[in-house]
This record gives sequence, structure tokens and C-alpha cells, in this order.
Amino acid sequence: MASERFDVVVIGAGPAGYIAAIRAAQLGLKVACAEKWTTPEGELALGGTCLNVGCIPSKALLASSEKYEEACHHLGEHGIDVGAAKLDLAKMIARKDGIVRKMTKGIEFLFRKNKITWLKGHARFTGENDGMYGLEVQAAEGQVQVDARCVIIASGSKARHLPGMPVDNTLICDNVGALSLSSVPRRLGVIGAGVIGLELGSVWRRLGAEVTVLEGLPGFLAACDDAVSKEAWKIFTRQGLAIHLGARVGEVTTSKKGVSVAWTDAQGAAQGLDVDRLIVSVGRVPNTDGLNLAAVDLGVDDRGFIPVDDHCRTKRDNIYAIGDVVRGPMLAHKGEDEGVMVAELIAGQKPHIDYNTIPWVIYTSPEIAWVGRTEQQLKAEGRAYRSGQFPFMANGRALGMNAAEGFVKVLADAVTDEVLGVHIVGAGASDLIAEAAVAMEFRASSEDIARVCHPHPSMSEVMREAALAVDKRALNL
Ligand code: FAD
Ligand code: AMP
Repeated sequence: MASERFDVVVIGAGPAGYIAAIRAAQLGLKVACAEKWTTPEGELALGGTCLNVGCIPSKALLASSEKYEEACHHLGEHGIDVGAAKLDLAKMIARKDGIVRKMTKGIEFLFRKNKITWLKGHARFTGENDGMYGLEVQAAEGQVQVDARCVIIASGSKARHLPGMPVDNTLICDNVGALSLSSVPRRLGVIGAGVIGLELGSVWRRLGAEVTVLEGLPGFLAACDDAVSKEAWKIFTRQGLAIHLGARVGEVTTSKKGVSVAWTDAQGAAQGLDVDRLIVSVGRVPNTDGLNLAAVDLGVDDRGFIPVDDHCRTKRDNIYAIGDVVRGPMLAHKGEDEGVMVAELIAGQKPHIDYNTIPWVIYTSPEIAWVGRTEQQLKAEGRAYRSGQFPFMANGRALGMNAAEGFVKVLADAVTDEVLGVHIVGAGASDLIAEAAVAMEFRASSEDIARVCHPHPSMSEVMREAALAVDKRALNL
């Protein structure tokens, strides 16, 4: 039987792949998308890591745990006495699962609406013939062969595991288990103080766990601007996260009582950590197993990523790779933008991405977000800059919301005043940073931001004041 032919076959329906498929279909191309994700209930699902076990469920639990903490500790400050708050963890997890289901079903609807064929199973390259790439999809009903003029690899990433720390997602968890614990552990260990470790560690701390984080590097949140990492360190340790930097993790043993971790502290002293559960959050590795890249003469680099150029083109004509499986920040919105770019390239348009204006976000409480260069990067580059910083403490809306921690910091070129970087630690930073990303896309100056009328009272006024502070003329400090 002849294989069905498509203009574009996308491998993977995470945020990079499903957005690429939709944009390609919008542009009139005949599109299929292979996706094999299976839920714990055995149902096939679209949405990838982000929707199933990443961005969406983690943010649902962040919101629920923040509400719980507020009810336990902070509603009294507003003059509201609700008595002792009671946690129904099963309901909280079910709410999170319901949101995930709503979102993944939403993508199925979008696929139908855009006439995208979902190839339900694992896709692998079989070779090439006559300008078309051959793919085989292992579906439950058997194998399906398809031919594609263009292929977009969006196979994403999976949690990195460590030798000697077998993840069973009960006692030792990666992100999958950590989003679905059946009870709040009394003591929780987290290996790795990166984005995922801090977000998930914070969730379980707010729900009542005593959380200890072991981080291998000597510095805290090294990718952030130094002022932000210092402030975040103060806030998170004050909240009760016990974070140990420069920790070398040794033997890990499990028993009926929990998990014991032998580790060496930064001073070289032997330490032990006994916890009920352990979360391993030491980064993610690209998914390329089983793609049979060799059939189309492709390979991976020494870190496992598929090499691509600035436009996500691999070395083979008409094969692109996007999202977590290629270089750059492992962030959903970065993959989505690459998906749009590649679909438009295939349709003959001339899109591009300015990787310098992709915002980074850490959804702790308060949130951390930034775009562009950090102060330490500018120093290392020898670039002359001016800096303005303004605290949420001096903002009426922040005080009213009981969200006065943190600040906005704006870095601008010393001569042209062009905004080079914006760094926020504070409530709602993930939304506030969008203004900075727009400003930088338009190559705005700090004076441009300062001259724009911002609503009062609002957290966004802190952005304006930080921009004014670049020229030493903040008004409310
Ligand atoms: P993925 O989402 O990993 O999707 C890849 C898909 O490809 C998977 O569904 C997989 O089943 C499928 N696939 C792979 N190989 C094949 C094959 N051969 N055939 C068929 N299908 C295949 N990012 C943010 O921007 N904001 C956040 O708040 C955020 N929170 C996160 C929280 C957690 C706990 C985690 C783990 C991640 C978080 N991320 C967040 C990162 C984000 O999830 C990833 O950057 C994003 O999912 C990458 O998208 P992707 O499409 O490249 O890959
Ligand atoms: P992220 O890449 O944001 O998910 O963060 C992963 C974090 O885990 C980084 O801060 C790493 O330094 C840290 N890490 C990686 N390997 C280890 C390890 N073996 N022990 C402790 N921390 C680690």
C-alpha cells in the first residue's frame, strides 16, 4: 500500500511541535504530527512534557499551594479569620489533573480544527527517496508509513537521572512523581536547586514539608543577575527552604522508612540527609532515542542535542529541529516561537527569532523573571551600562497585595540608553517581564519605558520607576 504523503510531518506534540503543526496548517500545508505520549490511565495525549508533567500541572500546584499557605499564615493580616485551614491533597491533585486534561483535549480540538492528522505512536526515520523523507509510526493498531517533504523534529526532553539514584516515582521522584505525591512528606529532599527543584520544592514546603535542597554548584541561581540571586537566596531561606550549595551527593539508600542520602558539604565534611521522599531535579536531556536519525544521516552533538543553525535548520535540507531537543533555553515559549518560525520558513516566509529577547521565568513565590543581559555579563563583555533598581516595597499596590518583596532592575547602554536587560524578583514577574521583552524587541531606551504612562496603582509602576532610576530620577523613592 502506498504511504500517505504530507508536506510536513512533525515528530512530537509538545509546545514546540503542536504549535509548529498548527502554524504550518494555517499556512495551507498538509500536516501530520506523530505523538506517542500515554497518560497513567493508558490514554494517548497531546501536549508533551509541558502540558502533561511540566509547565501546566506545576503552575496549578503552585497556585493551590500558595492559596493554602495564604489561608494558613497570611489571611489574618487582612483581618480575615478562617480558622485552621485543612488540606485535601487528593482534591488538589485531581484539580491539577483536570486542568491538564482540559488543556490536552484542547489541543486535540485544535488539531481537528486545523485538519492536522495525529499519527498516534512512536515515529522513526526509515530513509529518503525522491526528495521525500520516509517515516514509520508504531501505533497500537500496527505500523503506519508516511512520506514527508519536510520534517520538524520536536521530540523534547526527559528528566536527567543520576547513577545510584533509581527513580521509582514513589520514594525517589523526578518531575513526573513530584507532581503527584499521594501525601505531603514530613521531610523532603531535593537534589538540584535549578528551576524545577526550586518550584517543586516550594510547592511541597508550602503544603507542610520540611525541605532540604542539595545543589552541586557553589553559586545559587548562577544564570540570574547577581542582585536577583542574592535577593532570592534571602527570601527562599527565610521561607524555610534549607539550601546547601557545593554539595557532593554520594550513596543513596532506600528503606521502608524513606531515603538516606550521604553527601559532602562545601567544606568537605561528611553529612547525612534522611527524608521521606527525594526529588531528583538535575536538569533534562534531549529525547533522540529511537528516532533512527542515522537513516537520514543526522546525529547529535556531545550533549545529545540535534545541531541546528539560527533558523533551526539541521544539516539536511527540509529537516528542522526545535524546542528542547536543540540548543537554547529549555522553555516552552522558546520552542513555540521556533515552531512558528520553522513553519513560516517552510511556507516561504522570512521569519527570525531574536534569542536575546526570550524571557526566562522561575515560578517560585515570589517569581523571578528576566530578559537580556545580566550585569555580570555586561561587565565581562566590557560594555558601559547604567543600572536602575526600584523595590516593590515602595509601591502601594504591592503593599496592598501583601507582595512587597523584591525589585525590578533595568540595565541600559551608558551612551545610547538602549535597554540591555531587565531583571525582576517579585510577585507576577512572569507577566511584568513581557513589557520588557516588547521594549527590547523594539530596541527601546530606558527613557522610552519611563515616558510611557503606566496604570496606578499597579505593580507595573515599579518597571517605570526602575527605568527612571537608570537616570537617577525615580519619583517615589
Ligand atoms: P516536550 O514538551 O518534551 O514534547 C515532546 C513530545 O515529543 C513528547 O510528548 C514526546 O512524547 C514526543 N515524542 C518524542 N519522541 C517521539 C517520537 N519518536 N515519536 C512520537 N512522539 C515523540 N517551561 C516554561 O516555559 N515554563 C514553565 O513554567 C515550565 N515549567 C516546567 C515545569 C516542569 C516540572 C518541567 C519538567 C518543565 C517545565 N518547563 C517549563 C519546560 C517545558 O516543559 C519544556 O521546555 C517544553 O515542554 C519543551 O517543549 P518541546 O515541545 O520541545 O518538548
Ligand atoms: P535546571 O537545569 O534549572 O533544571 O537545574 C538543575 C540543577 O541541578 C542545576 O543547578 C545543577 O547545578 C544541579 N545539579 C546537577 N547535577 C547535580 C548533582 N549531581 N548534585 C547536585 N546538584 C546537581
